[in-house]
Amino acid sequence: MTASTPAASAATHHRVLILGGGSAGITVAARLRRGDPGLDVGLVEPSDTHAYQPLWTLVGRGVVEPAATTRPQSSVMPKGVTWHRARVVAIEPSANRVELDDGRALTYDSLVVGLGIRLGWDLVDGLADAMRTPHVGSVYSLDSASRVWQALQAFQGGTAVFTNPLGQVRCGGAPQKIMYLADAYWRERGLSDRSEVVGAFAGTMMLGVPEINATLERIVAARGIDMRFRHDLRAVDGAAKRATFRHLERDEDVTIDYDFLHVTPPMRAPESVANSPLAVDEGAHAGFADVDHATLQHLRFPNVFALGDVAALPTAKTGAAIRKQAPVLVGNLRSFLAGTPLEKAYDGYSSCPLLTDVGKLVLAEFTYGNTYKPTFPVDQTKERLDMYMLKRHVLPQMYWHGMLRGLA
Ligand SMILES: Cc1cc2nc3c(=O)[nH]c(=O)nc-3n(C[C@H](O)[C@H](O)[C@H](O)COP(=O)(O)OP(=O)(O)OC[C@H]3O[C@@H](n4cnc5c(N)ncnc54)[C@H](O)[C@@H]3O)c2cc1C
Repeated sequence: MTASTPAASAATHHRVLILGGGSAGITVAARLRRGDPGLDVGLVEPSDTHAYQPLWTLVGRGVVEPAATTRPQSSVMPKGVTWHRARVVAIEPSANRVELDDGRALTYDSLVVGLGIRLGWDLVDGLADAMRTPHVGSVYSLDSASRVWQALQAFQGGTAVFTNPLGQVRCGGAPQKIMYLADAYWRERGLSDRSEVVGAFAGTMMLGVPEINATLERIVAARGIDMRFRHDLRAVDGAAKRATFRHLERDEDVTIDYDFLHVTPPMRAPESVANSPLAVDEGAHAGFADVDHATLQHLRFPNVFALGDVAALPTAKTGAAIRKQAPVLVGNLRSFLAGTPLEKAYDGYSSCPLLTDVGKLVLAEFTYGNTYKPTFPVDQTKERLDMYMLKRHVLPQMYWHGMLRGLA
């Protein structure tokens, strides 16, 4: 069966079945097939398009064209993988079975869950309607990211508000990256005297890694960005241009009138995982796949593994994390299939390339416990042009040509 052809009459059983063909699913599929070209791998993914989301922040700043961030899904699907172009609607790990929205069921010897995260646009009152107004946008969807750039250009001063929700967030740095980029752009246009940039964040600090947090605190202070922590967005009135937040310490509502609002929506585990026995029951990771933090093997169903945004791991949800998780998962999955002990361990590595302006970036890299772990022999806690060039030019190439081919 060729990779680029959606399966019409595919076998219903796979030696390894992968759910989701995003960064995690394709990287794992590529690595599995590269190591064992005869391995029977099935992959479930409904979308025709594969996106490199880390560039969406720069789409929001007008530096990158939206089309440059996507490719046909068929072009990244590894050869020999059976692509089931459908949605997973139920996962039954005790029966080694998955149900699809086209009525088919698939069974497996081993399952890899890479279903990403659900963006909860519906979890904030009025947000879906407000997103259709020209004053509200988000780099968390590609369509909206290009409208963010239009809004930044149309802004003539006033109050610009940038939100950051409570709970699990895909790329926790992106809400502030777009804030810095917008602020720098307006400053360049001479609008800083006429505008107030407000960061209304649900958390308590800029970033959990102390070495990087210190830099970010200096940046917001120097630029006069008004940071308001413990603000959790609850409602948006697009017609009145008013955002309502719950103040998480004072337990009261706070409203802010905006001229531009950038929203990072609250996020949840995908429903197919949250409603399955694979989910964590309660706590900060409720609904996400309950895997061992080192081996990435499920804690109750040993033939199930998970990685990427869907995995309940106490580290930042990024593509950079997936790049380190995938070889660990694939090594351990092979050991599992061979009946030998799992030997690979993930250390929680993740990275957050904090764009602070076009041409400036602070590269946060860390492991579990927010332990700062820089890769390069330079001071990564500073705003740097070389790290910007890495993000803008090197990492996208590494993604398309290395990671998705199982080579990086
Ligand atoms: C604005 C922004 C900036 C970012 N910046 C960075 C950065 O600078 N560096 C970095 O490393 N990371 C960054 N990230 C994060 C990174 O893009 C994600 O962490 C990564 O893409 C997650 O990969 P994933 O495979 O877990 O999820 P995804 O890539 O979202 O893949 C999940 C896949 O599952 C599919 N799916 C969903 N539901 C179903 C279903 N029911 N059945 C079948 N398939 C389904 C989806 O169609 C999707 O293809 C950024 C993200 C955003 C949005």
